[in-house]
Amino acid sequence: MTAVDKPDLRAMTLPEAEAFAEAQGWPRFRGEQVWRWVHDRGARDFEEMSNLPRAARAELAERTRIGSLQVAEIQTSRDGTRKLRLTTHDGRSIESVIIPDGDKTTQCISSQVGCAVDCQFCATAKMGLVRNLDAGEIVDQVYLARRLIAEVEPGRRLSNLVYMGMGEPLHNYEQVVKSLRILTHDKGAGLSQRRITVSTAGLVPKLEKLGNEDVRPNLAVSLNAANDETRSEIMPINKKWNIGKLLAALKAYPLEQRRRITFEYVLLAGVNDSLRDAAQLAKLLRGVRCKVNIIPWNPHPEAPYQRPAPEVIDAFQAECKRLGLPTYLRTPRGDDIDAACGQLANRSNGAPLVPLRVRKAAPPAPAVD
Ligand code: SAH
Repeated sequence: MTAVDKPDLRAMTLPEAEAFAEAQGWPRFRGEQVWRWVHDRGARDFEEMSNLPRAARAELAERTRIGSLQVAEIQTSRDGTRKLRLTTHDGRSIESVIIPDGDKTTQCISSQVGCAVDCQFCATAKMGLVRNLDAGEIVDQVYLARRLIAEVEPGRRLSNLVYMGMGEPLHNYEQVVKSLRILTHDKGAGLSQRRITVSTAGLVPKLEKLGNEDVRPNLAVSLNAANDETRSEIMPINKKWNIGKLLAALKAYPLEQRRRITFEYVLLAGVNDSLRDAAQLAKLLRGVRCKVNIIPWNPHPEAPYQRPAPEVIDAFQAECKRLGLPTYLRTPRGDDIDAACGQLANRSNGAPLVPLRVRKAAPPAPAVD
């Protein structure tokens, strides 16, 4: 068996780890013990599992693996945003961004290598889809970020997670939902569902499916235009699921109390930034429990667009607000290192590799139930 054929503990949910332990003839609790090492303490090596007998560690290493990403490069923006370039076991690169913002620290994670959706303004789209990430590769981005934050800024904690990096999360539905189950489990990383946001370009059938899951992340939808003509031009996916179908699915979405849908609206000069567009947007979203994040377009070499002038951006937002639509202007974070929205395309400015020291993790707290 080659290393990658072995079952990957990092891609297992807790029940899967327990079932795996039983199938090996090991006591069931061993499954939980090992799972907690990997998913709570972020262990990257069986040797870190200090409360396991040596023989058990050796046996584990023989029959399983802890799939992990390698840190290829860490770039730090002048605003404190960090972009991690990570290498998968098959030599692919993905990116993940850590964004400190006051007391909050948000991580933006990738769900695919590349993307198949082909939004005209996005750099990731230009890569096409290389492959889906598995749940282990999705959660490992978080574990690496938690270690890095603990090292460079002890006291700061990862508080929020957004599935807004490379890829379309709902195109990789099963693995994304599995990653949500793993990350929100209270015996693992224990992230709060209320602090996790999954963003989609609007895959209507998958949105309907997501509404029926037991994990309930916040939902963000990349709307980007308020009429079908413009949306189909900049997001070809709109030809399959147009604004009418998308809005109908969102209105039927079982939104929890006090939550609202976030709409992203990339502002492109001369394309979707007029006062008429703002009025259309406000009308379209009337009666939907939502807010709109306006993202002035972040430049990258592959696209023929421009960011609107500041006064155009302000006028667009003011018009939305005047018409009763809650809108927020997103200031670009990490744009000097191509880490801002829509700039993730495995580019680097050749910054030197910053090695990530791997600390030994402390043993997990004993189970309480
Ligand atoms: N595929 C998912 C997840 C990616 S989220 C989705 O579409 O929602 C990335 C966000 O960045 C999307 O809202 C997208 O519309 C926006 N975006 C893409 N390219 C951009 C760019 N160059 N400038 C600003 N925002 C961009």
